[in-house]
Amino acid sequence: MPLQSRLLERALERSRDAVTIFEKQSGESAARVVYVNAAFEAMTGYERTELVGRVPGFLRGELTDSDVITSLDTAFAEGTRVEGEWWCYRKDGEPFLMHFVLTPEPDANGRVTHFVAVHEDVTARRIRRRRRENLERVVDLQREVVTGGLDLQRVRQRVADAALQISGADAAVVEEAEDDEMIYRAVAGLAEGSLGLRLPIKGSLTGHCFLGREIIKTDDTGLDPRVHREAARKVGFVSGILVPLIHDQRCYGVLKVYASRPNAFSNEDVQLLEIASGILAAALFNAASFEREVNRRSMLVDAIPLLVSYVDRERRYREVNAAYEDWFGVEAADIRGQYMWEVIGEEAYERIRPYVDAAFSGDEVSYEAEIPYKEGGRRTVLAQYQPSLGHDGEVAGIYAVVRDLTPVKQAEQDFLTGLWNRRKFEAKAVELLEKAASIGQSVSLMLLDVDHFKSINDRYGHLFGDEVLKRVAAHLHDTVRGLDVVGRWGGEEFVALLPDTCAEEARLLGDRICAEVRQLAFEGLEGVTISIGLAQAAADETLDEIVERADSALYRAKRSGRDRVEIAGGPGG
Ligand code: GH3
Ligand code: MG
Ligand code: MG
Repeated sequence: MPLQSRLLERALERSRDAVTIFEKQSGESAARVVYVNAAFEAMTGYERTELVGRVPGFLRGELTDSDVITSLDTAFAEGTRVEGEWWCYRKDGEPFLMHFVLTPEPDANGRVTHFVAVHEDVTARRIRRRRRENLERVVDLQREVVTGGLDLQRVRQRVADAALQISGADAAVVEEAEDDEMIYRAVAGLAEGSLGLRLPIKGSLTGHCFLGREIIKTDDTGLDPRVHREAARKVGFVSGILVPLIHDQRCYGVLKVYASRPNAFSNEDVQLLEIASGILAAALFNAASFEREVNRRSMLVDAIPLLVSYVDRERRYREVNAAYEDWFGVEAADIRGQYMWEVIGEEAYERIRPYVDAAFSGDEVSYEAEIPYKEGGRRTVLAQYQPSLGHDGEVAGIYAVVRDLTPVKQAEQDFLTGLWNRRKFEAKAVELLEKAASIGQSVSLMLLDVDHFKSINDRYGHLFGDEVLKRVAAHLHDTVRGLDVVGRWGGEEFVALLPDTCAEEARLLGDRICAEVRQLAFEGLEGVTISIGLAQAAADETLDEIVERADSALYRAKRSGRDRVEIAGGPGG
């Protein structure tokens, strides 16, 4: 061998790059190894005597990508260059990832008889890259879980989905302990459909993981005596990794990822899941404590006999307490998310809308209104709105506390006619008289009595009598002004106190009422009439004194033929 060639070969022997030379004999389809250097021997664990004379592909194994082999065959057949990576096996069976560049070396006539290949073991580089990718996934995962909010079931589901994604498994399950069982609380992938599955803690692999608080990797559940066989078969669990979800010393549950084939997971997968499990457990823990807190608070809010709600900017109910279910006869869950007008009705909403608007412009608001109650009913409520400011300083929503005034009203209202009862009338009248006296305003009081009411009852029955009383009361209520106070004095007698009204003005009103009642059409009735006694309040006169004078005027009206108005003389007159 000439000196130069010898030197070149020596150089090749000392090179750190693994080099092989292939020769393709004419007539042969495959190229054969004619030379390997020391670096190639070191990389593969084979002696050169074992390699020379072999055809390419001798390092192939289970992991080897068949496309790479095809591309090599093509390059050898066509005399072209090829570069790539493939999984090879050392003599001791250890897999490694090899990068190669195969170059054709044509002879002086341009015929390709030889190929030079330069190889590099890139396994370590691949592992580093994989680790970096895994870390990125964990960081993504953290972001993902944190932005998932605090809804416990959503967080569980995200944990299962994330675990499925980062592990590349066929299935992922979040299992939690309840009494002496483990329950599938969230499922992803192949496990979908097994939600709610229960297994005994003692007698399942998950139970082992949960009680022992240690990561378990199982390569073949068929060979693992700790596995609950029947369940494993049912969910397709053949190999997998089980990680306890531990946060703050508490084991929250178990995250299981699995595949339906044996040996699907590496130790690297275990490490990745271990890192991820800390994040996942923290997210679950936060969501669970939040849910407990919410439950505790809503229990409190549900127990009080008030309608309590939060309405957002769009005017949708975001939160409502249990009292809403009772009031509207609808599940609270069905009210949440609905617009106010959908729940209370367009008509009621239009009436309360000015108050809602005021609250959304930042005012605290309180008002009384009638709103629908269950099927077709109505009730009077006292509503209070408290605006709630968002981060931007704008009103983000309003808290509403609504009290049913019906019981209070019932104590104040006459049950038959709905007018104020005598007690409430007296209280309101005293207040009104004082106010009028303080500003020197004239006030008149009117007593109204249905004529011959006893005989109406006698002839048409008591129920019909009630109907007459309701109609007269309604007419009276609708005729007077909002400022006037109207009540049922008792029996078939009514009373009205009219501020800013002198006796003559009151007479005009009284005459009108008499005439209108006469016109009220009662079925089968000749015509109901009423008599009215009027008195204008004198300075310092008490309510009793005014009523007494009005009563004597009423008596005169009865005596002088009924269906008329009489005015009382001055006090003492
Ligand atoms: P007058 O024209 O003199 O007022 O005669 P009257 O029959 O209206 O007067 P009287 O006081 O003799 O009779 C009142 C009747 O009203 C007697 C009572 O049974 C009846 N009454 C009182 N409260 C009610 C009620 O809530 N419903 C009905 N149907 N009748 C009532
Ligand atoms: Mg009477
Ligand atoms: Mg009467």
